[in-house]
Amino acid sequence: MKNYSSENFLDLNAFRGTGEDPVYHPPVLTGRPRDWPLDRWEEAPRDLGYSDFSRYQWRGLRMLKDPDTQAALHDLVQEVRPRTIVELGVYSGGSLVWFRDLTKLMGIDCEVIGIDRDLSRCQIPDSEKTNISLREADCSDMATFEQFRDLAHPLIFIDDAHANTFNIMKWAVDNLLDQGDYFIIEDMIPYWHRYSPKLLVEYLAAFHKVLTMDMVYANASSQLDRGVFRRS
Ligand code: SAH
Repeated sequence: MKNYSSENFLDLNAFRGTGEDPVYHPPVLTGRPRDWPLDRWEEAPRDLGYSDFSRYQWRGLRMLKDPDTQAALHDLVQEVRPRTIVELGVYSGGSLVWFRDLTKLMGIDCEVIGIDRDLSRCQIPDSEKTNISLREADCSDMATFEQFRDLAHPLIFIDDAHANTFNIMKWAVDNLLDQGDYFIIEDMIPYWHRYSPKLLVEYLAAFHKVLTMDMVYANASSQLDRGVFRRS
């Protein structure tokens, strides 16, 4: 065991729900057998025994989108038929592969762009990178976003990095989004609403001339809760 004085502590807040290991592993159940005996069927627990948010995967890559969110994004992609999907926050890359596979199945010619300041945890094998581009940029340094212009429309932009979000949104409105394009804030709105309600309401209202909230998708899943905006 190391001594605290020789440790250089990582900020665990930075991991949020993502965990320190981006590789997907099938769940290991604790406190119960995976193979439950059928002669005790009625006694079987009705939950997993742990929070299941980050156990989802797509073709073996972890994907931090729950099934309700996947269903809602499926419907949005089918409706918008985007030529570009930009996702801010790559992590293992599972959701990029999912978006690419989904658009391909739907016959949509779409480029999926994954942006992250740390692409070292991305697990997408080279053989699976068709129509996916991985780009390095840091949300806290808007100059690193200059590379993202002249993208094909319709376009869906998803903020799943949760850093400097409203300045990213401002940049996207000014430089990227055409009428009908989407800007989605995943996960964070309920937390901001609880902990910084005045600022959140003020910041969102500041965009009232350029964005509206799409009420079909804004209530479709808890991860998308009141965070789906369309360029007007
Ligand atoms: N979109 C993925 C999950 C992304 S997890 C999915 O649905 O599966 C969040 C990611 O945001 C992490 O990979 C982290 O490196 C990245 N991130 C955090 N802060 C960032 C910043 N300031 N700039 C760019 N990326 C950042």
